[in-house]
Amino acid sequence: MENYELIDAETKTCDAAFFLDLIAHSPARKLSLDEKMAIIESCQAAAISQFENLIELSPLSHIKNLGFKLVEDVAMENVPVFALCHSAEKKLTLNAKMIEKVEQRLQNFAKRDEKWAVNIKIVVLWHELFHMLEENDPTIYTRNAWIEKKFFNRVKKVPLECASEIGAIYFSKIATNLPFNPRVFELLA
Ligand SMILES: [Zn+2]
Repeated sequence: MENYELIDAETKTCDAAFFLDLIAHSPARKLSLDEKMAIIESCQAAAISQFENLIELSPLSHIKNLGFKLVEDVAMENVPVFALCHSAEKKLTLNAKMIEKVEQRLQNFAKRDEKWAVNIKIVVLWHELFHMLEENDPTIYTRNAWIEKKFFNRVKKVPLECASEIGAIYFSKIATNLPFNPRVFELLA
């Protein structure tokens, strides 16, 4: 997407709309709006509570304290994500090319409006830190969200993976005081 006006318009979209879009692509898509909003609010509450527990405000020092090593991969061009977190290996891989592309576009956008003067790498690090903190908190809502689905005549519990994403996105937003939803950066990649 190249059009500045189109991307800029997305900065006015509220968090709930971005998160409802994630839910619309999850097993929870058929729930009522109230039920979906309750999921979103629980994810946001989990993110706030994790953030309030932090004393130091450098995502990198938290990541290092948790024993993760950071790798900048320049050969991830075809992987459409900013980072991959491998908990078992304690490795966080950043998609260096994608981050660089977004950094350059943000620099150009910032000439028009200073709200774009954002350090995207820091936003990505906060996002990934949330996933690491989730690992250390087995009872956290975002890792335990599920819905009941009927398969033929059986009721099954289906996990909601989008809850973890909603939590991480919201966590990175509050940690960086971002005036818009971080999902906007996906449009710049
Ligand atoms: Zn994530």
